[in-house]
Amino acid sequence: MINIQTCIVIGAGISGLLVASKLQANEVKVQVIDKGRLPGGRMATKLMGEAVFDHGAQFVTTRERVFREMVEEWMSQGVVKPWYRGPLGNMRYVGIDGMRAIPALLAGNLNVALSEKAVKLHFEDGKWTVTCLPHGETETKEYTADFLVFSTPVPQTMDLLATANVELDYDEEEELKRIQYRRCISVLAQLNGPAGLPNPGAMDLNHPVLRWIGDNSVKGVSSREGSVTINSSSRFADAHWDTDPDTRAKMLLAAAKPFLKSDVVEFVSHRWGYSEPTRLYKERQPFRKTYLLDENLRLAMCGDGFGGPRIEAAAMSGLALADELTSPI
Ligand SMILES: Cc1cc2nc3c(=O)[nH]c(=O)nc-3n(C[C@H](O)[C@H](O)[C@H](O)COP(=O)(O)OP(=O)(O)OC[C@H]3O[C@@H](n4cnc5c(N)ncnc54)[C@H](O)[C@@H]3O)c2cc1C
Repeated sequence: MINIQTCIVIGAGISGLLVASKLQANEVKVQVIDKGRLPGGRMATKLMGEAVFDHGAQFVTTRERVFREMVEEWMSQGVVKPWYRGPLGNMRYVGIDGMRAIPALLAGNLNVALSEKAVKLHFEDGKWTVTCLPHGETETKEYTADFLVFSTPVPQTMDLLATANVELDYDEEEELKRIQYRRCISVLAQLNGPAGLPNPGAMDLNHPVLRWIGDNSVKGVSSREGSVTINSSSRFADAHWDTDPDTRAKMLLAAAKPFLKSDVVEFVSHRWGYSEPTRLYKERQPFRKTYLLDENLRLAMCGDGFGGPRIEAAAMSGLALADELTSPI
């Protein structure tokens, strides 16, 4: 077991929250830092008046026993419910109050600093100092710990590491630089009536512009009728990343119109720069680890770039890392 008394976890997405929870349960003093206003990262839920929209991940699936048990526990706590079975027969579960309810539950037991962006790192005498810039402020804050975990998308981790006075092993660094992510543009649209999407109120699309249309009302997340999430294809996101936000949202709405039975009265859009990894850490190596651990530099990395492009895989990456950090051998 690596001796860890105090740990900073950068990122309060599912992977970071699970590492933090498990370390804290093993007597480590943990500080989680996230630049977002709320915990959850890509498990995000947004309100527009009375309407509620999941605008990042839309559902969670379970393949591994450990994670299935975790989801069952969340169901028994009234946080998660089954939605419908996907094409391969796997149940798709959702947060009862939206997907963010899951990270909100996990964060409730942790020390999480929100709206604080980690901007600089320093490693000296076995201790990490993370300098953060709180949102809307000019004065920075510092946190110090004897171990550091990154649960941020890998390109963001690499940008942060470039500010530190340390160098990773050359091969590790080259491997990490190869991990890239797809982009996605989401539009949250409130309609003036029912969306009229076929049962179960969502469509996984193989369409040049659209990847997903889901009705948050039928899903049971929004009490208002016709609250629709529209996620673009990565091809559309790449082509229109820098298009004016109103124009690109209207292009997505035009593509979605044939699928919707009511008209749009209000919408907002959001760009996801790191929606899902297209290549994973050491993807081609047999028996690869789903996290990175550098004991000399007293740092580790986890998340979907290590586990795979789904909530469960990101969660399992965080859990595997925590197991290694707390295992007695
Ligand atoms: C539009 C969309 C749809 C998706 N649909 C699904 C789906 O239906 N089902 C599914 O299983 N998966 C889906 N995914 C993928 C899933 O959401 C992710 O794989 C998973 O949530 C990743 O979790 P994570 O902990 O690895 O990272 P994240 O959730 O990205 O957490 C990383 C955190 O790091 C924080 N951060 C980054 N930089 C800094 C910094 N410098 N300082 C402080 N904090 C920082 C971020 O704010 C973020 O909260 C979808 C993703 C997107 C974007």
